[in-house]
Amino acid sequence: MFAERLAQVAPSATLKVAAEAERLRRAGYNVVDFSAGEPDFPTPEHVKAAGKAAIDANFTRYTVVPGIPELREAICKQYKSEYEVDITLAEVLVTVGGKQALFNAAMALFNPGDEVITHAPYWPTIPEQVKLMGAVPVIVQTSSADGFAVHADAIVKAITPKTKAIILNSPCNPTGALIHESQVEAIAQAAAARGIWVIVDLCYERLIYEPVPHNLPRVLFEHLRDRTVICGSASKAYAMTGWRCGWTIAPVELTKAFNLIEGQTTSNITSITQKAALAALTGSQEPVEAMLNEYRHRRDNIHAWLTANPGITCVKPSGAFYLFPDITGLLSPDGVKTSADFAQQLLEKEHVVVTAGEAFDAPGYLRISYATSMEQLREGASRILRFAESIQPKAATTASH
Ligand code: PMP
Repeated sequence: MFAERLAQVAPSATLKVAAEAERLRRAGYNVVDFSAGEPDFPTPEHVKAAGKAAIDANFTRYTVVPGIPELREAICKQYKSEYEVDITLAEVLVTVGGKQALFNAAMALFNPGDEVITHAPYWPTIPEQVKLMGAVPVIVQTSSADGFAVHADAIVKAITPKTKAIILNSPCNPTGALIHESQVEAIAQAAAARGIWVIVDLCYERLIYEPVPHNLPRVLFEHLRDRTVICGSASKAYAMTGWRCGWTIAPVELTKAFNLIEGQTTSNITSITQKAALAALTGSQEPVEAMLNEYRHRRDNIHAWLTANPGITCVKPSGAFYLFPDITGLLSPDGVKTSADFAQQLLEKEHVVVTAGEAFDAPGYLRISYATSMEQLREGASRILRFAESIQPKAATTASH
C-alpha cells in the first residue's frame, strides 16, 4: 500500500524507548530516564528573548529558502573563529535540525544501489536515511578496546567502485568518541583520489571535554574542499532541540541542490527560530561553557559509579553526553542473555530507561544519556547496580569481592 522505499527503513529506536518511558510515567511509576538525546537545560535566556522579539516584531513570514543572510553569516563567522576556514554564504544552507541537514545530503547525493560507508556503533538515523534513498549502508565496526577509534585503513578497505560517500560522526553518538584528525586526513585523501564525498556530522562539535585537536573542517577542506559536506546543529550546544535549527556547509553547486530540495519541501526553517539561532551563535557563549562543565561533572560521576561493578566496563566519552558501557560481563546464557533483554528487564523491574546497544548496531552495550540531573543520575545508577547484582553470573560476583 505504501511506497516501496519505506520497506527498508526502521523506525527510530531511540524515540521508541522515549515513548515507552512516557507510558510508564503516565502510569504513575517513578521513572529514571536515561534515554534522552537532548540537553535537559533550558534554552539560554538571551536566545529565548530573541525568539520572543521576533514574534513581537512580526518576523513571522516565509524567509529566503537557505535561511536569512545574517544567520548564514553568523555560521560562516563561527566556523572561521573555531576552525580557521573561509566559507561563503553561498555554501551555507539552514535546515530543520541537523537531521534535515543529513537528509538533504542523502537526498541530493545517493542513488539506488550506491554504497555509503559509515562507522558503528552509529546513530541509527545515519544508515536509515541511506536506505531511504535506496542506497546501501556499509558498516565499519569500531571497538571499545581502542576507545571506538575510527581507523582510516578500515574505512578505505570498505571502498568499492560503488562507494558514493563516507559519513563520519564526531563526537559520536552513542560512543562519545572523537575521530582523530590524522584519520580524517587519510580518509579525505582516499576520497579525493576516488571522487567520493565525505559527509561529517558535527552536531556535538561544541561538546568536547578536553582541548584536543579536532579541526575536522580544516583537514577536510585542505584535502577535499569540493566534496565535503559539514552538517551542524544548534540543538545540542545551545539546548535548542525543539527550535529545530541545523545547517549544511557544502560546495556551491551542491548547496544549490539543497536549495532545490528545501524549496520543494520545507521552504525554509521557522523564521522565529532563525532569529533565536542568530542570537545563540552571535551572543555570549558562556551558557555553552557552563553546560559543558556540568556535563563533564556528571560524566565523571556516572562513569565512576557504574564501573564500580566489575561486570561493567566503559570508555570515558570525549564528547557528547552519552556513556556507552560494555555490559557483556553481566550477561550469561542462563541469566539475562542480551543487552536488549537487560534494558527491557531494567525498565520493568527498576523503571530505569536506557537504550540497548542493539539500536546502534552494538549488542552488549547500553547507551546512558547523562543529560539529566545529578539526583537522577545517582538514583538511576544505584538502581542499575542493584539490578546488575541481582542478575550477575556467580563468577563475576565472586570476582568483585
Ligand atoms: N546527529 C547526531 C549524531 C545526533 O545524535 C542528532 C540528534 N540526536 C542529530 C544529528 C540531529 O539533531 P537535530 O536534528 O536536533 O539537530
